[in-house]
Amino acid sequence: MNDKIVRVMLLMFIIGVAVLGPRVSLGWAQIASPPPADHPEVTVHGRKFTPRSILARNMGTPEDQTAQFPPHKIIGNLYYVGTRTLSSFLIVTSQGNILINSTYERNVHTIEKSVEQLGFKFSDIEILLGTHAHGDHQEGDALIKQLTGAQMMAMAEDVPALQAITPGGKEHPIDKTLHDGETVTLGGTTLTAHLTPGHTRGCTTWTMRAKESGKNYNVVIGCSLRPPATLTPEVVAEFSHSFPLVRSLACDVPLGDHPAQYNLEEKYAKLQKGVRNPFIDPDGCTYEVDIEETMFHALLDEQQKAGGH
Ligand SMILES: [Zn+2]
Repeated sequence: MNDKIVRVMLLMFIIGVAVLGPRVSLGWAQIASPPPADHPEVTVHGRKFTPRSILARNMGTPEDQTAQFPPHKIIGNLYYVGTRTLSSFLIVTSQGNILINSTYERNVHTIEKSVEQLGFKFSDIEILLGTHAHGDHQEGDALIKQLTGAQMMAMAEDVPALQAITPGGKEHPIDKTLHDGETVTLGGTTLTAHLTPGHTRGCTTWTMRAKESGKNYNVVIGCSLRPPATLTPEVVAEFSHSFPLVRSLACDVPLGDHPAQYNLEEKYAKLQKGVRNPFIDPDGCTYEVDIEETMFHALLDEQQKAGGH
């Protein structure tokens, strides 16, 4: 190839990048994290879902991920302090408070505002927990730790994935490693960590008891059960353990790491009318697992057909 041709090609390349640059880089960003497929489609409790629609339901718009949802009491000493589509839960005790899910780092000050609007002190957060090692749930851990000095505890199987979440180069704080069935107790409230893997290796479903009007209620804070696009034998084995386990938990108050998993908007609207506590919803306890388990089997069928089995 002669020199002149090389120079002309180089010039065309530079012009191409200058003109198409933004579009080219958008293309690459989409290739880097493609949206999930719009198939298979399943119908659960009269509603249609695809992998893409479930992700869209969970995440909403970028604005939904950061906009404060009105902070409110759920039941007993348990409060909601998250955004419109990313849950964050506060458990208030006489010995200090527990926060579950810091969400994105950019949301930490919104969570702080919500805690204070409820009349509590952000600096009283003594223990920081999470549901699973994805940035939309636990990216803010280092900043929460920095601002409150809370002790961060994580399920052992999620530790490697958490260590890879280092916003601004900040090391992920992990003060204590937990194992399936271990409990975390503060000021008379005990949370139990149930290993429910599949979505991540250490996905943690938290259970606790909350008291209201002299009655005890079983609260289940679910970890995402959304299957990934490709189901490896390992992931299939994990979900095969997690679906029946989640169904077996004693449950009166179902919650989840995305508000859509437990119909927060609808329940919050009822809460405003104030007849009875809408979060006490035993019939809703299998709502999310029904959707995800049905989708899991549809994906597995699709994958097995494509593989010629
Ligand atoms: Zn996730």
